[in-house]
Amino acid sequence: MIESVLHYLVPALLVVGTVVFMEWFAAWSHEHIMHGWGWGWHKSHHEPHDEALEKNDLYAVAFAFFAVFLFWLGATWFWPIWWIAVGISIYGVLYFFFHDGLVHQRWPFKYIPRKGYLKRVYQAHRLHHAVEGRDGCVSFGFVYAEPVERLVKKLHQNKRGFDQTALKDDDGRPEAH
Ligand SMILES: [Zn+2]
Ligand SMILES: [Zn+2]
Repeated sequence: MIESVLHYLVPALLVVGTVVFMEWFAAWSHEHIMHGWGWGWHKSHHEPHDEALEKNDLYAVAFAFFAVFLFWLGATWFWPIWWIAVGISIYGVLYFFFHDGLVHQRWPFKYIPRKGYLKRVYQAHRLHHAVEGRDGCVSFGFVYAEPVERLVKKLHQNKRGFDQTALKDDDGRPEAH
């Protein structure tokens, strides 16, 4: 019994816990680091451009290196760290799916969610990009998103003009950047 708890329950909790923690950490660092002293890299993600890659992608590369380092630590020193690395990697996939794929369409097909939670995540991040510059932005998470009405209210409270087309879901609108 104790054996199987160690074998299945502990890894499962470590993975799920890490994924949840990573969403919190990603939102926190997006707000306080990328929109703070880390704006130098993140700026590239808030400006329109034609290149396939952005300086901002270096953040994903840094996270990937960190995950590889944790896999190594877990394999050579303390096994639970290996499962934490699995959680970070799963979060990386979720981040790519929601942020790079769904919102920014960096994959080779076009799919715009029209209803439900995916639409909410999509619109929330479009609202993140609706304010020009690094200040007064809303919705810093990637997998969890607040209800869209609440985000619009916040934008009004921040007293920043924002691009209303972010809320439109017709195909004629310009692509998200
Ligand atoms: Zn941002
Ligand atoms: Zn974005």
